[in-house]
Amino acid sequence: MSMPLARDVVEEIAKQYGVCIRPVPLKRMDLVTGQTDVVDVPCGATLESKCPPCAKRNRQLRMAQCREGWHLDQEPVNTPNEADDYQRHLVELRADAQVWRDQTEKAGDDTTDLDAALADLDEEINRAGMRGNVLGRTSGKRSRSTRRRQDAPDLPKRQMSATTLGRTFTSRDGKTFRPSMFLTLTLPSYGKVRDGVPVDPASYDYARAARDALHFSKLVDRFVQNLRRVAGYDVQYFATVEPQKRLAPHLHMAVRGTLPRAELRQIVAATYHHVWWPLVDRVVFEGDHLPVWADGVGYLDPTTGEVLPTWDQALDQLDADEDAEPLHVLRFGEQLDVQGVLAGSPDADQCIRYLAKYLTKSIGDGLDTDNPAQRLHAERLLDALRFEPCAPTCPNWLRYGIQPKDAKAGMAPGRCKGKAHKPEHLGYAGRRVLVSRKWSNKSLTEHKQDRRTWVLEALGLPDQSSDPHRYLWRSVMPTDPDLAPIGVRLLRSVHERQRWRDHMDRLRAEADGQDLSATEGRAA
Ligand SMILES: [Zn+2]
Ligand SMILES: [Zn+2]
Repeated sequence: MSMPLARDVVEEIAKQYGVCIRPVPLKRMDLVTGQTDVVDVPCGATLESKCPPCAKRNRQLRMAQCREGWHLDQEPVNTPNEADDYQRHLVELRADAQVWRDQTEKAGDDTTDLDAALADLDEEINRAGMRGNVLGRTSGKRSRSTRRRQDAPDLPKRQMSATTLGRTFTSRDGKTFRPSMFLTLTLPSYGKVRDGVPVDPASYDYARAARDALHFSKLVDRFVQNLRRVAGYDVQYFATVEPQKRLAPHLHMAVRGTLPRAELRQIVAATYHHVWWPLVDRVVFEGDHLPVWADGVGYLDPTTGEVLPTWDQALDQLDADEDAEPLHVLRFGEQLDVQGVLAGSPDADQCIRYLAKYLTKSIGDGLDTDNPAQRLHAERLLDALRFEPCAPTCPNWLRYGIQPKDAKAGMAPGRCKGKAHKPEHLGYAGRRVLVSRKWSNKSLTEHKQDRRTWVLEALGLPDQSSDPHRYLWRSVMPTDPDLAPIGVRLLRSVHERQRWRDHMDRLRAEADGQDLSATEGRAA
């Protein structure tokens, strides 16, 4: 009886000390000493799961990153860094996972979960600060016909200058100002809303809300393209995607440099994104009447035995059709909030806090679970997302008579495992933080490293991990005899954190003491 309670208490203590409560154990082989031990990596440094302490730490790192880049007065220098231990571990893990997946497929078993895990790993590898794809795939981008390209909207265009910096202004008394902007971009109305709930759910446009959420990040990309074209320089931004009360994603964006408000309004109004996917206006298969899989052939019509068009064939057909319409057109709503911000002002700090405010929550967390009307609203949105294709690989394409990209056995419409269909994502499966490439001189990993180096230096400890080739990382089996019970591991981490804190406090006290004596010395 006392065991679960003890575990709760240990977790509470760990939280107070900012220690990760869901650490991921990894086996670390020291190639210099030959020693092997089990090391806990905070969950915040790995896949999806983020415990409260890790989420908090992550948020602080993001704030540091945002602050660092916003008002740069010199061009950032971007040089790729050597992969660190963790990145290396991810790549090794990715290689292992690929082998498992291929073996599973060979054995004729379902690889859906493994494929999802691989996709997550790829995302994590990118998030860990490495660019590109481990397989070196260029993902076979199709060259679309000219007509299908997204036309540049009718906007003023300035000569591009090769800078990422905004203008500075000098006042008469010689003071320089470096103004920048804080923008909030919102999707259009889908129907009148009160307190996050549609006034008339029957007429609320859930289908459009669902598609807008699914493709939101593309619209943001277009906005940035247009912004750069009009501004005439390589505008940099740090943005976060957050849920509104009506459960639609919206965007807060810190932008380096400034543009006249009228031009911004023009850009927002002219920005759109066309989704050139096959139409899904006709349900071909549903209920028990579903396409059947044939090895080496693909999905067939269950009645006629005809092979369904593949994803590529469906796109070719779309390209060939002169009268084809895009599946969906996205635009922003009329609400645009622009705030001018000056470097180093309290306003700037407040915006940064605001940007990071909801970072520890997922889009679905915007939901007020105590409010039954809002719960129903979320359910209706999920219903609208249920059969909506979230990606070219989404099994939902079968419903509309098309084989999904990379089709395989066991797919069924309405049973896509993609994030977008899940209650915590509500259509938006993209990244929550969008940072342009030349925002600052540092990646998030480097910001992390900064903190680590700082602490180690303050403690007078050598930074052992500075040699990236020193360690080899492997996964740990739950049955590994070297793996201590979670409670013991948490307490160890708390103890270590406590030791560091005490040491830091002592150093601080000593430093204060010196300051004090210095002041006294001057006074004397
Ligand atoms: Zn954690
Ligand atoms: Zn899907």
